[in-house]
Amino acid sequence: MAVDLHTHSSASDGTDSPAQLVRRAAAAGLVAIALTDHDTLSGIGEARSTAAEAELRLISGTELSVDHDTLKIHLLVYFLEPGEGPLQDRLSELREGRNLRNVEILARLRALGYEIDDADMAAEAGGESVGRPHIADALVAKGVVSSRAEAFDRLLGDGGAAYVERPRLGAAEAIRLATESGAVTSVAHPYTIDRNAETYPPLFRELKALGLTGLEAYHPEHPPDLRVHLAELAADLGLVPTGGSDYHGTGKPGVDLGIGFGDLDIPDTVVTDLEDRRQ
Ligand code: AMP
Ligand code: FE
Ligand code: FE
Ligand code: ZN
Repeated sequence: MAVDLHTHSSASDGTDSPAQLVRRAAAAGLVAIALTDHDTLSGIGEARSTAAEAELRLISGTELSVDHDTLKIHLLVYFLEPGEGPLQDRLSELREGRNLRNVEILARLRALGYEIDDADMAAEAGGESVGRPHIADALVAKGVVSSRAEAFDRLLGDGGAAYVERPRLGAAEAIRLATESGAVTSVAHPYTIDRNAETYPPLFRELKALGLTGLEAYHPEHPPDLRVHLAELAADLGLVPTGGSDYHGTGKPGVDLGIGFGDLDIPDTVVTDLEDRRQ
């Protein structure tokens, strides 16, 4: 039995529809997945009805980009149900922030000489949460770059010539809103926050004091020794070591559901451990 608690569909920047993603997960033998599209729950309905047919458990989730001091942290939110609620109500504001930022990014690209407009971006987006990966796909379609990764490296990544900030929630606020909405939170891919593992204990202790439930130990981009280290650290701090592939369909070549690059192994006990922490 295997699970995958970090996946993206075409509701944000993945390339599989929610139904395709769930069917793929069932075919891979997974017993539970979390759909964690960026800043949206719009894929959950379709994913859930497909999951019911496939006899697979679907956990409703999202992934937020939050600020904490000078750090940018991705926060996975689990058991956040579609509809109204303290955090749910903020997601539309976050998406509006994305839309305003996308307009600015496109303007910067045009100023740099790349003829790209709103329709080019819209042609690559399948859902309501639109962002840099779709702009990257439009640049690929125009032959400017050969991959999403190259688009981020050359233009769209933090500090790149077409990079624009967008409004983010603070970590404390996001964790509080999630808790008030009946959800739990886990820090996504700590490797991207800081490569130096010595910074993790004080940071995660601080976030736990704010109400954090888990940290993502099992992620494809974590070297095997880091996965073990983070799982031990989570146990030490009373956090749940979560895991997921961060599957984006063809948006992240080589990464597949449940197994990442082939060597990911996520204990299925994570699901009940997370559930037990719901308030
Ligand atoms: P945005 O949400 O619009 O700020 O775009 C960030 C998303 O782009 C991340 O969640 C990743 O899915 C994707 N991304 C970030 N860096 C890269 C990269 N170097 N190559 C491909 N995709 C990336
Ligand atoms: Fe993404
Ligand atoms: Fe992320
Ligand atoms: Zn992700």
